[in-house]
Order: sequence, then C-alpha cells, then structure tokens
Amino acid sequence: MKLLEKLCVTPGVPGREDRVAKLIQSEAKGLFDKFTTDAMGTLIAYRKARPAKGKKSSKKTKKVMLSCHMDQIGFLVRHIDEKGFLRVNAVGGFDTRNLFARLVTVCTKHGDLPGVMNPGGKPVHIASPEDRKKVPEIEELIIDMGLTADEVNDKVQIGDMVVIKAPFTEVGNMIVSQCLDNRIACWLGIRSIEKLKHHDCDIYVAFTVQEEVGCRGAGPAAAQIKPDIAITLDTTLCCDTPGVPGDMAITKAGEGAGLMVMDSGSITDLKLLEEFEAVGKKKKIKTQRTILPRGGTDSLAIQRKGEGYRVMTLVCGTRYIHTVTETINKDDLFACRDLLTAYLAQA
Ligand SMILES: [Zn+2]
Repeated sequence: MKLLEKLCVTPGVPGREDRVAKLIQSEAKGLFDKFTTDAMGTLIAYRKARPAKGKKSSKKTKKVMLSCHMDQIGFLVRHIDEKGFLRVNAVGGFDTRNLFARLVTVCTKHGDLPGVMNPGGKPVHIASPEDRKKVPEIEELIIDMGLTADEVNDKVQIGDMVVIKAPFTEVGNMIVSQCLDNRIACWLGIRSIEKLKHHDCDIYVAFTVQEEVGCRGAGPAAAQIKPDIAITLDTTLCCDTPGVPGDMAITKAGEGAGLMVMDSGSITDLKLLEEFEAVGKKKKIKTQRTILPRGGTDSLAIQRKGEGYRVMTLVCGTRYIHTVTETINKDDLFACRDLLTAYLAQA
C-alpha cells in the first residue's frame, strides 16, 4: 500500500499532472522499455512483448493499451480579493456538500502552502434558518491562507492548483483517500505489469491527463498508439450503502473486479468482456458485471478515435466517490490487479 499512498498524496488536478507523472516514472523504473510524454502531458510507458523461451508466434504482435488517468478533481485559483482571500474554479465535479471546513494545499511556484476552505458567510450562531439550509456553490467558497493580501499576492498566482488536504488511511479491510479516483489505476498500471512474467503482446500503459474535465487526454494517446485492444482502468460507483435501493448499487464491495458492460460514454466490446470473464473464472478471480447509467471513462474517448478501437473498461467499486473519503475494498483492488495480469499474460 506504500506505493498507493505515495500516489494519493501527490497533488495533480487536470492540466497539472506533472508531479504524478514524475512519481510514476521513478516508481516504474526497470518495468518498461521506454517512457514518452505527449504534448498534452500523457505519460506513455512502453513494454515490448516478452514471450516465453522457445515460444515462437507467426501472428502479428498485438498492441494492448492500458489507460489510467492521473488527474484528480480539485481546483485552480480564480481570483485573489483585496483582503487576500482566494476564490477557486473547480476542475472536475466535487459535490459542494463535502467542501465545508476543509484544510487545503495551495500549490504555488514558491512551494505548497496551507489554507482553510469554507463557504463565505456567517457562522451557525448568527446565520438565519434559510442560510443554514443553503448548499453553497463553488463560486461562494473562500480560501483563507492566514496571510496578508500582499503576502498572498507575492506567492499565489491565478491558475495555481488547489487540492484538499486529506489523509490516506485504512479502515477495516478498506482503503480511504481523496483521490483513489484514479490513483488506483496508476497503481494497477504499475503493479499488474510487475507481476507479469511473459506476454506476447506489446504493452502501452498510458497515464492520461484531464479525464475529470471530459476525457481529454486519452483520445490523442490512442491515436498515437493505435491499439488492437484498449483497457481503461478506473473507479466506479459502489452504492451498496444505506439509503440507496439495491438496483442502484452499481457494484458491491467485496464482490470482485468490475466489468463495465456499458456507461453513458461507451459500450465495452462484448468479446473482450467475455474474455475477461473467462480469465476470471479460470484463475478463480471474482468479477462482477456492472452498468453505470450516468458517467463515463477514458474508454469513450478511445473507442471513437480515428477509425475506432475495441475497448474494455475494468473498474473498481468505490464508495463515497468524488468526496475526500473515497473508500475501496482491498480484495476488489487485488482482484483487478490479478485479473489484468492474467489477461495480459494470455492476450
Ligand atoms: Zn476516474
């Protein structure tokens, strides 16, 4: 879990993924034959086929792409007021009900600085009953850096990244962090390859950018790789908690790796879905099929790029997604890793 923790505490919002990319490159050293970075910032890790000794194939070597988005939801500084309070613009969809009374990190050219984020307005003692019921919009949130306006203006610039400060921790058999979406995919893109001995396919792990603002990085990466098969790794909803009807659970914690049949952006290639399911059965790895009525992944951008690509979306059910306490069952995460390794070994 040490690697996942490192990935989760490294800030990287859409358009500001360079620190995460750097970390991945240093952690995955030796696993890949080549790293390249495209114009948008997507890091592509290439690993040439490594067939078992004595095994020769007359078939053309298949190209398999894994897509793992590096970005997390967060903010960019939008405005600094005359008193030195910051206002932010969201990059990715936070639920503002989760954004009261948060410690934040403002990442500036002069280093990472702490701040406190709250909606502007009155404390509970002096707020009217109407005020108390209101859910603030992102525009109404202010960040107090505890500095004078001059000090803030010296250090902070419009466009600086802001992330919430929240720990990576374990609760029972679950892991909790603010950006399991989608650092678990970055983790899977490293750990599944680490476990892989021989493979007949060429592997391209694309650590993509700007997924949370509309899957912007994955398409250009696919256009460059031209994969025979693309596998998107991501989190999905896990609403097996009180207050949600059973048919809306999407996935259930502890029920294994999620095979996304369809979401609102893409439909998984049926043959690929069945192949993953068969590998799971053979290797005794738990899988669960799922459909997400609203929401999409990098698969939507890859599938319809160029002449079109076959996509499979492999997901890990995540409770309280897009909050600062995203929660994942460890066995489900390991099931995703093992399924991916087993699939790549036979692809
Ligand atoms: Zn995601």
